[in-house]
Amino acid sequence: MSRIVYVNGRFWPARKAAIAVEDRGYQFADGVYEVCEVRGGRLVDERRHLARLARSLGELGIALPMSMAALSLVMHETVRRNRVSDGIVYVQVTRGVSRRDFPFPAPAVKPSLVVLARSSDRTRLEAMAAKGIAVVTMPDIRWGRVDIKSIALLPNVLAKQAAREAGAWEAWLVDEDGRVTEGASSNAWIVSADGTLITRPLGSDILPGVTRAVVMEIAKARGLALAERPFTVAEAYAAREAFITSASQIVLPVTRIDGRPIGDGAPGPIAAALRRAYHDHAEFS
Ligand code: PMP
Repeated sequence: MSRIVYVNGRFWPARKAAIAVEDRGYQFADGVYEVCEVRGGRLVDERRHLARLARSLGELGIALPMSMAALSLVMHETVRRNRVSDGIVYVQVTRGVSRRDFPFPAPAVKPSLVVLARSSDRTRLEAMAAKGIAVVTMPDIRWGRVDIKSIALLPNVLAKQAAREAGAWEAWLVDEDGRVTEGASSNAWIVSADGTLITRPLGSDILPGVTRAVVMEIAKARGLALAERPFTVAEAYAAREAFITSASQIVLPVTRIDGRPIGDGAPGPIAAALRRAYHDHAEFS
């Protein structure tokens, strides 16, 4: 847990930090967020995360709470004050505080801004990557604009919980045509029998993952075959490798899908190589 939290203009000890009960984030999930990896005390791919934040806010007509330069300073300062070396920084912006009513407040109110930072156990994360994770598939019941990184995550929460109850770490969400959209908190990838990396193309049905974009650049730079197309659950079962990408997990091998071993049931060499190469390509700030 973040010990020092930034809320609306100042840093607070976590137990003193508070948000108004009529914050539209609390009442309507009317807000967006970002998660950026922290490594060696520096932010990873901050520029792309802030660009996606600006886009998410723009799509919902929420103003930036402060300039991007100021927000960057607040993120770095939150990391510093919490002495996070390896971990994440979390940024949440909501439409602000107003009497509960569905339409946007008119005139507009000031957006609320929260920034947290917390450490993660890198040894534990590396052990998880070395072992690989299990995923289970389930129907994607989310709304039609999951390209916006909205804080309305109830379907993702339910999917993740169902995965945990099934002994898996992640849920792969499946559209009505039997094709995988993405993970509950990650993008989904497979490596086909002929060695092609396959991941769903960008659209309103997946989050444009920052890690996904960087991994695509690495794959291109290494001359790996890459196809941005939807893949079915049956294709995933038959894949040589599978993995997920996200800012907090980087590249995490998937070794079982719905209880079936993928490839030889151990993390694949392509996923492992992409994970190792990631931080040589990522931007640090
Ligand atoms: N899809 C979903 C639904 C997610 O929650 C996340 C993680 N925020 C991702 C994909 C991966 O995005 P990124 O690589 O930018 O963390």
